[in-house]
Amino acid sequence: MAAYDVIVLGLGGMGSATLHHLARRGVRVLGLERFDLMHEYGSSHGLTRIIRLAYWEHPTYVSLLRRSYELWRELERDAGERLLHITGSIDAGPRDGKVFGGALRSSELHGLPHEVLDGAELHRRYPGYRLPRETHCLLQPEGGFLLPERCNVAHVALAQSHGAEVRCREQVLDWDAGGGRVWVRTSRGQHEAGRLVVCAGAWASRMLPELDRLAVPERQVLAWLQPTRPELFELGAFPVFNLEVDEGHYYGFPSFLMPGFKFGRYHHRGEVVDPDAWPREPDEEDEELLRAFARRYFPDGVGPTMMLKTCMFTNTPDRHFILDLHPEHPEVAIAAGFSGHGYKFCSVIGEIMADLAQDGRSRHDIDFFRLRRFTTAG
Ligand SMILES: Cc1cc2nc3c(=O)[nH]c(=O)nc-3n(C[C@H](O)[C@H](O)[C@H](O)COP(=O)(O)OP(=O)(O)OC[C@H]3O[C@@H](n4cnc5c(N)ncnc54)[C@H](O)[C@@H]3O)c2cc1C
Repeated sequence: MAAYDVIVLGLGGMGSATLHHLARRGVRVLGLERFDLMHEYGSSHGLTRIIRLAYWEHPTYVSLLRRSYELWRELERDAGERLLHITGSIDAGPRDGKVFGGALRSSELHGLPHEVLDGAELHRRYPGYRLPRETHCLLQPEGGFLLPERCNVAHVALAQSHGAEVRCREQVLDWDAGGGRVWVRTSRGQHEAGRLVVCAGAWASRMLPELDRLAVPERQVLAWLQPTRPELFELGAFPVFNLEVDEGHYYGFPSFLMPGFKFGRYHHRGEVVDPDAWPREPDEEDEELLRAFARRYFPDGVGPTMMLKTCMFTNTPDRHFILDLHPEHPEVAIAAGFSGHGYKFCSVIGEIMADLAQDGRSRHDIDFFRLRRFTTAG
């Protein structure tokens, strides 16, 4: 008999949530993480992650988001810790652009409370913002941010309290599966279980070569600048944002846990990277790209640089997630390719992956996220 029912490979955002959901269902689960429980080599560090309901990427995400909010609240309660802050969210850009247009479409389709403002009205309400008057801005009151490091730790600690076993600094080298069993070979030994859930983030294709062109790591950079008028960027005075402008697509947060207004550019410099050998130290070009954006649209936020951090997106060709069973090994479930917008979903994806590991299917409709969309005409 296998020592475990399920092994979860990778304990970042998705793996820690999966571990938690399995353990609280009474499943005998082992979580394996190649680095420390908290580390800065992957995709879930940097103090804050946006959560928002007016989902411009596609309206299909909204029902998952509702469940996600519910589960984050549950996690807060069980962990006895504040993990989610509501600030409202701004999705802004040209009227027909993907951000404003998509957010409006999701809001209308799902009956989400929202307001549409121009750049001048947005500045009147939230003076940190200085967008051109003609910018279309959708304000959704339930947007906010999560604390990813704390959420990951809370998921793992609660999983442990339900009996989960966790081993950090133990790298999975390879795995095999067949006849309802999986075998995992690691830097420290071998483990056997009934099921394997792969949540390897930027390393997904190392564990699953079939994802080679479907889950591609990309370097990102985040900046925290000390505002010259800090009161305009404080929690309560500044909603999180997604903003499509001439220079590209940016996102940002109020100052929190750092004396700095935090923001980044989606697909920063378009650098596809090897997750084991990439330039992790930000340079002057990274910094100037970000400061130039802030000078134009958030001039009161541009004081000295407080911190720069790199991080990785793992992009799919259509920028939608991959949630599925392995095409040849039904014992293996895959959560990959979160394309820079996955964190807010960790709580519900943990539930989905636990369903897949236990029953081979999920209570949530995940057809949109199946692998076959890349391999068949459908
Ligand atoms: C700069 C930046 C900003 C972002 N902003 C947002 C945002 O505002 N809102 C939002 O919703 N999302 C955002 N995202 C995206 C979100 O953070 C990611 O989608 C999410 O964190 C991905 O989680 P993951 O579990 O797939 O990856 P990770 O959290 O990186 O976890 C993967 C884990 O697997 C481990 N691992 C890999 N290989 C092995 C192995 N062989 N053996 C053992 N362990 C292994 C890794 O060490 C890692 O800990 C952002 C991402 C970045 C980089």
